[in-house]
Amino acid sequence: MANGPVRVRFCPSPTGNPHVGLVRTALFNWAYARHNGGTMVFRIEDTDAARDSEESYNQLLDSMRWLGLDWDEGPETGGPHPPYRQSQRMDLYQDVAEKLLAGGYAYHCYCTTEELDARRDAARAAGKPSGYDGQCRTLSSEQKAAYEAEGRTAIVRFKMPDGPITFTDLVRGELTFTPDNVPDYGIVRANGAPLYTLVNPVDDALMEITHVLRGEDLLSSTPRQIALYKALIELGIAKEIPAFGHLPYVMGEGNKKLSKRDPQASLNIYRERGFLPEGLLNYLSLLGWSFSADQDVFSIDQMVAKFDIADVNANPARFDLKKAEAINADHIRLLDVKAFTEACAPWLRAPHANWSPEQFDQAAWEAIAPYAQTRLTVLSDITANVDFLFLDSPVEDEASWAKAMKEGSDALLRTAREKLDGADWSSAESLKSAVLAAGEEHGLKLGKAQAPVRVAVTGRTVGLPLFESLEILGKDKTLARIDAALAKLTA
Ligand code: GLU
Ligand code: ZN
Repeated sequence: MANGPVRVRFCPSPTGNPHVGLVRTALFNWAYARHNGGTMVFRIEDTDAARDSEESYNQLLDSMRWLGLDWDEGPETGGPHPPYRQSQRMDLYQDVAEKLLAGGYAYHCYCTTEELDARRDAARAAGKPSGYDGQCRTLSSEQKAAYEAEGRTAIVRFKMPDGPITFTDLVRGELTFTPDNVPDYGIVRANGAPLYTLVNPVDDALMEITHVLRGEDLLSSTPRQIALYKALIELGIAKEIPAFGHLPYVMGEGNKKLSKRDPQASLNIYRERGFLPEGLLNYLSLLGWSFSADQDVFSIDQMVAKFDIADVNANPARFDLKKAEAINADHIRLLDVKAFTEACAPWLRAPHANWSPEQFDQAAWEAIAPYAQTRLTVLSDITANVDFLFLDSPVEDEASWAKAMKEGSDALLRTAREKLDGADWSSAESLKSAVLAAGEEHGLKLGKAQAPVRVAVTGRTVGLPLFESLEILGKDKTLARIDAALAKLTA
C-alpha cells in the first residue's frame, strides 16, 4: 500500500443518466482526496461504444460541476497522464496486452462459447469448480495453427496464479480469494477490443492510483486486478498495487439493491426538484459513513475535515428519501437569505404553466423570501408558495375552495374586506387585527375567519404566513381578489 501522496480516481462509464450510487462513489473519493491533500483523477471509461454516449459524458461533467466535486486531473482539465477518456487510449491497451502475452502472463484462448458452456455444465455436474478450466494455457503452436485454420479467432485470457489472493480491504478488512473462485479471465475480445478487466487496472497503474474506492459490486474483480497488477509490476508498467476499499451496497425500496433504473436513483430528479448540492451530498455521505452519533447535518467542508475511508461501514446502507428531504430542508434553512433568494430564482423566473417570466416581481419576491425559506423541503416547492404574488388572479384549486368556502363565508368576507380597507397596510399586525375583528362579528376564531380570506387571495388553504403575504401583495390586489371571490360565491 502506498504511503506517498494520495491519488484516487472516479471512473464512470458514460451510459445513461448519473445515479445517486455513482455520486456517493464520486463523493467518497473526492472527500478522501481533499482530506488527505491528495489528487482526484476523473477518468471516463468509454470503451463500450454500443452503450456509451456523448450525451451521458456531458451529463457526467455537468453533474460533477453542479455538485461541486472538482477534479485535479481529467477531461477538460488535463493532467500528466492524458488522455482521460479510455476511448482515446486504445493504443496503450494494445501495447500492454502484447506485453502480457509476450511475458507469458496471458494467452490466446480459442474456445467457443458452446465448448465453454459444455465444459462448465460438465464440471458443475461433477461438483467441480465451473470457471474456465485453463485448457488453452498450454496450446502448442501446431494446435493454434489448426484452430486458426478452422477459422477460429482467439480472445486474450489472463493467467491467474495458482495460489490464493489475500488483500486488506480498507472497509472490510482482510479478504482471501481461492483460485477456484477466480479462474483465468478474458482481457481482450476476439475482435481486439480490450475489456474493462484490462483497461481499468492498466489505467489505474499508469495514472499511479494509490487508493481504489468503489462499490461493493466490483469486489469480485479485485483479486483479478491484483494478479494483473503483479504482472504489470514485473513488466515495469505499474509501480505498486493500490489499496482497495469497497463501499457498501445502497438498498432501495423493499430492501432490494437500488438499481440504476430505479427512478429514485436518478441524480437529475434531485436536481429538478431543487435539492441543494450540499444537501444531497450531505445525505449521500451518510450512506455508509457517519459524521457523528448526534449530528447528521453538516457542511461539505466539515465532512472533508472528518472523512476517513477506514470509518466507512461495510453493512448495506438504506436509501431513505424522507431523510434525504429532511436534510435538504435543513440546508435550505442554513443558507443566508440572499443565497436562498438567488437559489430559488431559476424556478421563479422560468416560464410556468400559469405565469410568464414577465410577471415575476423581484421586490415582492425579496420581501416574501424569508417567510418561504423556513417552509421549503426542495426549492421547486417555491412556486406553489408564492405564485399568488405574480399571477393576475390566484390559482383555482377546487379542493381548497370547497374546504374554505362554507355557508356564511360571503358575509365574513364582506366584513373582512371592509375592515381590511380601513387597516394600516404597512403593518401585518394591523391586517391580522382586521380579520380577527371580522371573525368576532361572525362568531369565528381567527383560524376559521382567515381560511376564506386565504383562499380568496392565494387560491390555497395552506401557505406562507397570511398577513405578511397580504401586506406584500398590497391592498389593491387583495381587495380585488376578495371582491372576485364574493362575486363567485354569490353568482
Ligand atoms: N467504469 C467502472 C464502472 O462504472 C468503474 C469501476 C471501478 O471503479 O473500478 O463500474
Ligand atoms: Zn480456451
